[in-house]
Amino acid sequence: MLGKIRIVLMETSHPGNIGAVARAMKNMDISSLYLVSPRAMPDDSSFGRAAGASDILDSLVLVDSLQKAVEGCGLVVGASARNRRIPWPVMNPRDCAKEVLAKAAVTDVALVFGREDRGLSNDELQQCNFHVHIPANPDFSSLNLAMAVQVICYEVRMAFLSMLDGVDNGSSIASIRGAKDQGWDELPATADELEGFFDHLERTVKSTGFLDPENPRQLMSRLRRLFLRADIDKVELNILRGILTSVDKLFK
Ligand code: SAH
Repeated sequence: MLGKIRIVLMETSHPGNIGAVARAMKNMDISSLYLVSPRAMPDDSSFGRAAGASDILDSLVLVDSLQKAVEGCGLVVGASARNRRIPWPVMNPRDCAKEVLAKAAVTDVALVFGREDRGLSNDELQQCNFHVHIPANPDFSSLNLAMAVQVICYEVRMAFLSMLDGVDNGSSIASIRGAKDQGWDELPATADELEGFFDHLERTVKSTGFLDPENPRQLMSRLRRLFLRADIDKVELNILRGILTSVDKLFK
């Protein structure tokens, strides 16, 4: 189950941090690391800071966009130190970990971390189903990247261990899963399927005239937030695409 969880680092500046992240991950038995366009490639300082976790660096996946990094993931969580302009659903690391594990039973999950100097952009945060915030000192809330990864991965591990405990003592893993994930009949839509839907939705609302490209306001952000928090499955997404296609025919 932990094998379904990937850590995604956006445009990291310091190669040493990449190594420290690898170590933090391996301590918690999470091994899949994706780097999106690092500003400096992993080097000796990364391997030094990784200590015995160089296998994670050896097998990391290098991509050039967040979209590629989260392909195939049925849940995308963005770690953020700050509040943003448009509020997004936010969880603390403990609740986030339960959600992550419940989803990792059925799909890949991405935990996305931002740049050391300016975190994640609004666009990137708006690709996430929800955000996780470590409730640190409000006057000094930004942790070092690898420390933030450590805290989040630690909570995932604690949730994982308590799930194993539950199985050992005969209670079902339901204790850790939300009711919705028990026996749900369809798989969650993945991030790339949702992006395809958002592109389609934007085209359609432009063609009907509902979205004015000269004055888009925050329409697409609000629609993204709505659909991303709705936990849509593959069949539901196909229905929505079908409805858009039927509208498109009217406006051809
Ligand atoms: N200066 C940046 C923070 C960068 S810290 C800013 O103000 O946004 C690097 C990354 O570590 C962040 O993008 C975030 O993914 C993670 N991080 C740091 N502190 C965090 C916190 N309190 N809660 C959640 N994630 C945090």
